[in-house]
Amino acid sequence: DELVSQIAAGEVVERPASVVRELVDNALDAGASQVTVRLLAGGVRLVSVEDDGGGIPRDELPIALRRHATSKIASLEDLEAVGTMGFRGEALAAIASVSELALLSRCAGQPNAFRLDARTGELQPAARAGGTTVEVKELFFSTPARRKFLKTDATELAHCIEAVRRHALARPEVGFAIWHEGKLVEQWRPASRDQRLADVLGDDFVEGSVAVEYAAGPIRITGRAGVPDAARSRPDHQFAYVNGRYVRDKVLTHAARSAYEDVLHGQRQPVYALYVEIDPARVDVNVHPTKIEVRFRDSREVHQAVRRAVEAALAAPRS
Ligand code: ADP
Ligand code: MG
Repeated sequence: DELVSQIAAGEVVERPASVVRELVDNALDAGASQVTVRLLAGGVRLVSVEDDGGGIPRDELPIALRRHATSKIASLEDLEAVGTMGFRGEALAAIASVSELALLSRCAGQPNAFRLDARTGELQPAARAGGTTVEVKELFFSTPARRKFLKTDATELAHCIEAVRRHALARPEVGFAIWHEGKLVEQWRPASRDQRLADVLGDDFVEGSVAVEYAAGPIRITGRAGVPDAARSRPDHQFAYVNGRYVRDKVLTHAARSAYEDVLHGQRQPVYALYVEIDPARVDVNVHPTKIEVRFRDSREVHQAVRRAVEAALAAPRS
């Protein structure tokens, strides 16, 4: 099973940022209102994610590390309409197979926390307020060939920050902090969505963009799209969310690009943060282990909705 987990890890864990993505995902699933990420050496030496969510009961700590052990699928129907973010129970097992992982958690009503060392299986009482900390040390220490592919600490750090940024734009009501080598590098306090967009992407993103607000049948699209007279163009500012999850999806990218072509005739690179809400039965999130890809039941319907949403926003008179 160790080998199977390591193979799974190859798909899920590419670099420290993958660990950050999965651990923050879990923290949000656990209902955290504050998520703190601590990194050493760009996350290669340490990724620690601390939350104030519901915690893991003592007896479930070892189970959480098992493959396909997930608390998030209550029934088969859930697989059809997955409302929650993570659902496969692979991430922790995969990460533990290529790192030194420890789980530290305390549930509401427990007199103290417990700490589980994944490698030794040692389970001990520990001190902690309610919530969970997952510590991942020395990523790929046992697979030097993979460790060799990592970039400089600065590059890995940038990817880690980007991973948190994607979550932060989805969950403005949650506070986030990122520490690197003991220094606070980013801090986003709970905010409205527009304020969070400004905090994470800069005031000029919000000032240089228009609101997107569109609904058609089972689809609702909100967010902001950059306008041509905005001072700065950041082509990397293309964020798309489906039911609260960050995705990279050709249908969405193409639809947004088409809208920019139609309305602005290439005067500006598409820049946007788009939030698509769609009936979960119309989208399959079970396509890729990292859940960054989705498959729409009717991609034409989604394409049309996004295109119209962005077109309407860009074409609307601005004051
Ligand atoms: P998944 O998120 O797909 O369920 P993971 O491997 O990411 O699978 O996590 C396994 C299980 O460990 C989760 O289902 C959850 O029960 C528990 N868990 C992991 N991280 C946390 C956390 N931060 N807070 C509470 N429970 C957690
Ligand atoms: Mg998960």
